[in-house]
Amino acid sequence: MLKSEYFAETGYQLVNCKKMKSPILSQLNHIASAPYRIAPERQIELRSIDLEEDLSIDFIEKNGFQFSVNPRTKIITTTVPTLEYFWACSYFHLVITYDYQQCKAEGNEFFDTSKYENTVTAIDLLKWAKNNVSSSKRREEWPSNFPRPSEKIKESSMVYSANELFLCGVAWIIHHEIAHVTKKHPNITTSSSKFEEREADIQATEWILQKCKDPQQLYKRTIGIISIILALQLLEEPLKSNIFETHPKAFERIDYCICNSHLDEDHELFFFASIILQIQLAFKGVNVHHEGKTFKERFSNYLIEYNKYFS
Ligand SMILES: [Zn+2]
Repeated sequence: MLKSEYFAETGYQLVNCKKMKSPILSQLNHIASAPYRIAPERQIELRSIDLEEDLSIDFIEKNGFQFSVNPRTKIITTTVPTLEYFWACSYFHLVITYDYQQCKAEGNEFFDTSKYENTVTAIDLLKWAKNNVSSSKRREEWPSNFPRPSEKIKESSMVYSANELFLCGVAWIIHHEIAHVTKKHPNITTSSSKFEEREADIQATEWILQKCKDPQQLYKRTIGIISIILALQLLEEPLKSNIFETHPKAFERIDYCICNSHLDEDHELFFFASIILQIQLAFKGVNVHHEGKTFKERFSNYLIEYNKYFS
C-alpha cells in the first residue's frame, strides 16, 4: 500500500484555500489525494486522465452548498461549509450506528437518542453544519467544544473513522465530477441532466468498487458512498427541492449504485445503511420499524419508506 504523502503529490492542484478558518482545512491535502487513495489499484489510470484533462479543485470561501465541476474549465468547485457538512454527516452516521447497536445490545427496544451523549453531540454538530449550508447568511465557525477533523488522532477514535468515511465519500463525489468531464457533459441544465447525473454516479461507483479485491476495502468504500448519498439527500426537504429536478433521488442513486452490486444479502453494510435511514426518517417524524429476512431486505424496506417520504 502506498503512503498518502505519495498520493498528495499526485493529487489535484488546490486553488484559493488560504484565507479560510476551519478544522476541515486539516484535511485539504487528503481531499486532494482522496480520488487516488480510494482506489489505489487504479492510480495509474487516474493519473493519465488527469494529465489529459488537467483537473483542479477550487475551495472557495462562500456560504451555502456547492460541489460541482465546470466541464469546460475542468475546475471542480466546492465550499468550506459543504465540506464541513459532509464531515459532520460522516461523524453523525458513525456515532448513531454505534450507539444504536449499543442500545440494542443493552436489550432496549427503542433507541432514545437523548440518552446517548455522543449521539446528542453528533446531532447538534449536524444541525450546525446543515444550517451553515442551508443559509446564505454569514457562516458560523465550527463550535469550539465539538468533535472536529484533525491530524493527530488515534486510529481507534471516532474522529479518525469519521475522517476516513468523509474522505471516501468526498472521493466518490470528485469521481462523479471527473465523470462529467470525461463524458463531456454540458455545463447547463437540460432535459438530459438526470440521465447525465446517473451516468456520472455509475461511473464514479464503478471506478471505486469494480476492481477492488479486498472485502474490507470494499466494505469501507461502499459505506463511504452510501453515507455521502444520504448526506446529499438529507439536505433536501420534500417538495421544496431543486436538486431533484436535475439529480435522481437518493433512493434511486443508492439502488443503482449499491443494490445492484454483488454484496452478500446479509452483508453488515446493509445493516449500517438501514439504521441510518431509520434514524433520518425518525428525525423527519416518520417512526417506522421494518425487519427483513436478510439485512438487504430490511434495507430495501427502509429505502421504500424513504422514497415515499421524499417524493
Ligand atoms: Zn453531477
